[in-house]
Amino acid sequence: MKILKFKHLLMIIMVLVAGSSVYNGQISPSSKQIEKYPVDQAMVDNIRQEGFDHSELSNTLSYMTDVLGARLTNSNDMHRAQTWATGEMGRIGLANIQIEPFMDYGVSWDNEYFSLHLLEPDYQVMLGYPIAHTPGINGRQKMAVVIADIKTKSDMEKYRGKLRRKAVLSTPPPTIDITRYRKGVQRWTDEELREIAETPTPPRSPRPPRNPDLVTAVERNAFFKKEGVAVILESRSGWLAAVRGFARPGAKIDKWSRKETKIHLPIVAVTPEHYNRMYRILERGLPVKIEIEIRTKVGKVVQKASNVLGEIPGSDLKEELVMLGAHFDTWHASPNASDNTSGVAVMLEAVRILNAVGAKPRRTIRIALWSGEEQGLHGSREYVYKHFGNPDDPEVGIKPGYEKLSAYFNQDYGPGQYRGIYLQGNEGVRQTFTSWMKPFEDLGMTTVSLRGVGSTDHVYFDRVGLPAFQFLQDRVGGTGGHTNLDFYDTLPIEDLKKNAVIMASFVYHAAMTEKQLPRKQK
Ligand SMILES: [Zn+2]
Repeated sequence: MKILKFKHLLMIIMVLVAGSSVYNGQISPSSKQIEKYPVDQAMVDNIRQEGFDHSELSNTLSYMTDVLGARLTNSNDMHRAQTWATGEMGRIGLANIQIEPFMDYGVSWDNEYFSLHLLEPDYQVMLGYPIAHTPGINGRQKMAVVIADIKTKSDMEKYRGKLRRKAVLSTPPPTIDITRYRKGVQRWTDEELREIAETPTPPRSPRPPRNPDLVTAVERNAFFKKEGVAVILESRSGWLAAVRGFARPGAKIDKWSRKETKIHLPIVAVTPEHYNRMYRILERGLPVKIEIEIRTKVGKVVQKASNVLGEIPGSDLKEELVMLGAHFDTWHASPNASDNTSGVAVMLEAVRILNAVGAKPRRTIRIALWSGEEQGLHGSREYVYKHFGNPDDPEVGIKPGYEKLSAYFNQDYGPGQYRGIYLQGNEGVRQTFTSWMKPFEDLGMTTVSLRGVGSTDHVYFDRVGLPAFQFLQDRVGGTGGHTNLDFYDTLPIEDLKKNAVIMASFVYHAAMTEKQLPRKQK
């Protein structure tokens, strides 16, 4: 108690002496220097009423997950879904709806059919998915399975000449973590939220130096190809019943090329239980035989990937922008309800709410449904460079739009409800966001953290010096993204309704302020 009082006294003295307040040892502008932004309570009431009493969120989520399904960047599935998105934006009443191409993104890839069966020593239907940007095989084939545990260059010698026309178990058998399913995922406790609010981002542990004897996935797969392997099987996550598979190693480097996709070996990710069953049988020295069929559709022409955009036009400050967005692309083994169909539906619902309540923003509100996020934030990065620029890169330079964006708001940390917001190191917006959060305290929206967070589409906005924010979201159960199990059923709809309401209110208030939100001080 005494220590606390002393701390307060110290802070007051610091403010009086230096005109600054102290946060985590950093000096930041005093409250006098921070413009205060009031809350439009009548608008908040309207937004809440529309968002909770007339929500269309569940319908949107069901349509996107049930009817549209997975949306791998540049797949035919994705193109169909983007066309739907423009129609949906039109229905909501948005203006300037566009599908905006951003970069050459190789050829399209779609999985058309897959089946896998254990034939010997016992019959069983097996569950797996082809990895993206890998080829199919000719017809339905029966083949023997062998273990090929290759970590180092010398491991390769053990298998030379022994793998022809076989399916190889290429990864070690994963351990299934049962406790993960018994305990479920807890929402943030008050204690944890306090810690996030009061402590800086924990430092990342440095990567260990690379062992030169280890082979990369690309090298290992090239060896399998040379040895005449028929199919590469893998299982990595150890998540019960889940297939977690991404893209062919090297696909990003060859820019998702048709040629490299066609000449590569097929790769199939298998659920850990089924994979481990084969592994154990083989370790007994007994033969394993499977039947497999893979049909994939590989496009013929290089296409550009694209983002989908729409606007609520502003009024007296219509040249200025407030943006909200989420990535529209997903991995391909399920509709990825949580990652990030939930974010997309929240953004669409937020702008729908604003139009439904007749909001007349001063700044233009622009929604962006990004693509290429899962492969490396490509859509949002290219958008930022094209429309706003990059002051640190003379080749990109600063675009006229750089001074026009007040803020960007993103959702991509699963489908859990907003519990607060990360300031991304921008102390200057603390009071503003605290004030905008106040009407949503009853929904559990209470935490402001100075932390900078990453791994999603606000990153490049932030990197070029634009105010860009990701909300602090509850961790909610389900299977997590990037699996074959991410469907409508495990979405917490009530959480997402809250998010749409809070997002609508934040975006509206950001569009109404006298001045743009302050940027980080360099
Ligand atoms: Zn995501």
